[in-house]
Amino acid sequence: MTAAPSDQLISIVIPAYNEEDVLHELQRRLMLVLNRLPMRHEIIYVDDGSQDTTVDIIKTFRDADPSIGLVKLSRNFGKEIALTAGLHATRGDCVVVLDADLQDPPELIPQMVAAWQGGADVVNMRRNSRAGETLFKKWSAHSYYRILNKLSDVTIPEDVGDFRLMSRKVIQALNSLPESNRYMKGLFAWVGFTQVTQLYDRDARAAGLVKQNYPKLLALALEGITSFSVKPLRIISLVGLMCALIAFGLTAFYLLKAIFVGDSVRGFPTLIVSLFFLGGLQLVGMGILGEYLGRMFIETKRRPLYFIDEQLPSHSPTRDNS
Ligand code: UDP
Ligand code: MG
Repeated sequence: MTAAPSDQLISIVIPAYNEEDVLHELQRRLMLVLNRLPMRHEIIYVDDGSQDTTVDIIKTFRDADPSIGLVKLSRNFGKEIALTAGLHATRGDCVVVLDADLQDPPELIPQMVAAWQGGADVVNMRRNSRAGETLFKKWSAHSYYRILNKLSDVTIPEDVGDFRLMSRKVIQALNSLPESNRYMKGLFAWVGFTQVTQLYDRDARAAGLVKQNYPKLLALALEGITSFSVKPLRIISLVGLMCALIAFGLTAFYLLKAIFVGDSVRGFPTLIVSLFFLGGLQLVGMGILGEYLGRMFIETKRRPLYFIDEQLPSHSPTRDNS
């Protein structure tokens, strides 16, 4: 039933945003690995609206090797959408998602393929170490995953980035998801299927600067929580209820105090403190509501996820030649 390995096609998806400094090294290391695999390959580069020479470099790669495809998006849509566009363009029996900056070593692809051939549908690559990342980034990433998993209904594996291998089945499932808020790490976990996890040492960025800045990461973090959990909504209702109960108790207390002890004009600090406390709580509550409402607003518009400026397909023939 399964095709002979040499008949199989592996697709590599690489989102790239202003990555001219690393592309040559990436392509060199990637080809070394792919040429040794006993299967055919295609590489789909997604240019996420780069302003530098990223597209030109990819085109020179493609001139030299027709197994390379290019999806050039019409502007910078962010990594999640770039990945989505790349996955849509793949035809492989299995697909590996790779960062352009060589933080995910391509040399690990053979062992990922081996796990897939052993029956896994998703091979998650879990980071053992994070070289070249600041202490703050390590700490914030760690705490974030813990909070996310406490809140969300699917378990999103900690320290697993987007670097992974997925079978055709999984790609079809992912491609069938219509939502425009795409938190890929969450969706990868949400679709299910047989998942295995391998450990690896994450390298430092080979060259160039980090393209995912903190504002982008913060937006992604919020997206992760609000697309995979409605618990924050429940938490604010509970906190609201608790505040109401406390206020109720306080009213009774002050009433009794006024009757039995008498009232003075003191208590101004208490008043101000509780005013700010309740005002703050209400604003936080409204903010959380707003996050969900905003997401619903975006989803109801049903806009296409991205626009393609230019698409150059790869020329690895598909297995069934269809
Ligand atoms: N990337 C992208 N669009 C963006 C930001 C980043 O396609 O708007 C790509 C980038 O080119 C790289 C990958 O996403 O291949 C990871 O980005 P980066 O290394 O800057 O972030 P990290 O995840 O390592 O913090
Ligand atoms: Mg990186």
